[in-house]
Amino acid sequence: MLEIVTFVLGPVRTNSYLIADGESGASAVIDPAWDGKQILAAAQGRAWRIAHLWYTHAHFDHIGGAAAIADALNPPPLVAMHPGDHGLWQRGGGGAAFGFKIDPGPEPSIGLDTVPTLHLGSVTFDVRLTPGHTPGGVVFYCPEAGVLFSGDTIFQGAVGRTDLPGGDQEALLASIREQVFSLPDETRILPGHGPETTVGEEKRSNP
Ligand SMILES: [Zn+2]
Ligand SMILES: [Zn+2]
Repeated sequence: MLEIVTFVLGPVRTNSYLIADGESGASAVIDPAWDGKQILAAAQGRAWRIAHLWYTHAHFDHIGGAAAIADALNPPPLVAMHPGDHGLWQRGGGGAAFGFKIDPGPEPSIGLDTVPTLHLGSVTFDVRLTPGHTPGGVVFYCPEAGVLFSGDTIFQGAVGRTDLPGGDQEALLASIREQVFSLPDETRILPGHGPETTVGEEKRSNP
């Protein structure tokens, strides 16, 4: 069964999700935004083993805690990211433009362009490609839990900004229509910022 611990971290209040297969304790962090030690402590307190870091995209406010987590774990976690964001990742997630210099942590080794599903113990996640906010943006959908981790693609009542380098508004809206609104209405959306919502709620009310 999928278990989820939510953190709101860092200078722009990014949601980080520590997730695990409750039976096996196999664990991953979706968007280790900041304060890696805090995320680690939560995993250790539950006897969960963080084997993976999964990035919805490579903006600095979604990967700033990766180095602290990786430095404390042996073996270090494997990083899953879409290679469309590799340039952004190399530039520290674009943080310099906002006055933030981060250590981006270990080099991503799982390319989400060719990996359609990720596994945590017995729990499966579909990787859905959602370019627009960034070229390599993805969302993670867990069918058995009915949960979508949407990064900065869609929020409660809003969509991701497309004015940063690599942003593309038309692509973003197509991604949302095809990859998010095609999911069941009752699907919970856990976004990269702000409160959770559902697919049905956003279909009805998102401007
Ligand atoms: Zn972003
Ligand atoms: Zn963000």
